[in-house]
Amino acid sequence: MDTYIMDSTAIFFRKGLYPNMLTVPEVIEEIKDDQSVNYLSMLEISVEEPKPSCLEKVKVVARKTGDIHRLSETDLKILALALSKKEEGENPIIVTDDYSIQNVAKVMSLQTDSIIQKGIRYEFKWIRKCRGCKRVIKEQYEKCPVCGGEVYLVRKKLKRDKA
Ligand SMILES: [Zn+2]
Repeated sequence: MDTYIMDSTAIFFRKGLYPNMLTVPEVIEEIKDDQSVNYLSMLEISVEEPKPSCLEKVKVVARKTGDIHRLSETDLKILALALSKKEEGENPIIVTDDYSIQNVAKVMSLQTDSIIQKGIRYEFKWIRKCRGCKRVIKEQYEKCPVCGGEVYLVRKKLKRDKA
């Protein structure tokens, strides 16, 4: 059975015409504006917590790809909920426009459906680079240890999607 795991942008953009929708409690808590609250009240959407073991697995992958720096706890839980459903034998599809969620999902072989943008076509890794001297900066440094420059994230393509 297909289960659609909704992130908050999926709800903000009123893309709620899916059967069998599911989300995490944090997404519901993030919905604050009146229109979205009204909209949400009309949706049949179930709320569920992911398995803690799945959240751990997601974090391991997100650390490897570097997406951990871009993902909120809510985003990680969305991914973990999808993984929980997959382990229960369902067919979860994450509805999201977030590139980092899509990237981690892809690495974990979880299906996604994008709302506005076209989904990503390749897997990537976030590389931390110095804005000043452009060198690659290791995880443990907040700033460039050489020139003190600010660290920013760049996306590095890993491989082409054959599809
Ligand atoms: Zn530098």
